[in-house]
Amino acid sequence: MRKPLIAGNWKMNTNLSEATSLVQTMLPELDRIAGVEKVLCPPFISLVAVRELIKGTSVELGAQNMFSEDNGAYTGEVSPLMLIDLCEFVILGHSERRQYFAETDELVNKKVQKALDFGLTPILCVGERLEDNEAGRTEKIIKGQVQAALAGVNSTSHLVIAYEPIWAIGTGRAANGKQANATISLVRNTVASLWDSKSAQAIRIVYGGSVTGENIAEFIAEPEIDGALVGGASLKANEFVSIVSQTASLKST
Ligand code: PEP
Repeated sequence: MRKPLIAGNWKMNTNLSEATSLVQTMLPELDRIAGVEKVLCPPFISLVAVRELIKGTSVELGAQNMFSEDNGAYTGEVSPLMLIDLCEFVILGHSERRQYFAETDELVNKKVQKALDFGLTPILCVGERLEDNEAGRTEKIIKGQVQAALAGVNSTSHLVIAYEPIWAIGTGRAANGKQANATISLVRNTVASLWDSKSAQAIRIVYGGSVTGENIAEFIAEPEIDGALVGGASLKANEFVSIVSQTASLKST
């Protein structure tokens, strides 16, 4: 049985005091929910403060990005060595990184390797653009992204993949549960063909793209969907808690 995982990607939102107060608001309830891995991914500048707040609770921490080198002359970048004693997870290959910061499949692959080498669990994002979806190229694009990101990567259960169709991110236009389940099944088969089916069955593959308290149940009801990467709704304490608690009750039945 794979433990469901809900991660909140706060993106470039919240300053230090807003991040602190958001965590303080949601933490008591989040901490009480069992059976779901709960991960908060605030901006880099709040990682230390959030880590202090969640210490001793069941809530874990993730970064939103990381560079692929250990250290050196890379002004403005954050290395895995800086993250390893701060957080457990790191989001890699998010479509906003690919789109606005020109991250290539090759760079994402390097980052995945590096994160794993240092014991961080990557939340590897893959997803197709609207025009690819409409032209029936979803399968080809997703397969290609998974193969490229995992090239040369040994099988591990310390990997989460987030299927995030780009047309669903921040648009209010979520995929439907059946569509997402079918593509996630394709992701798992692709991983199985790179590794083996037992290893592919062991990793969590989650859905992301306009997940809310209203629609989470539709995704969680699907057998291949192991949780969600939540953007906008993770900034609302009540809604994020509701997403996590619905996941806990639906996946435990
Ligand atoms: C995301 O940032 O990964 C995301 C899925 O955003 P949203 O939930 O806002 O669509």
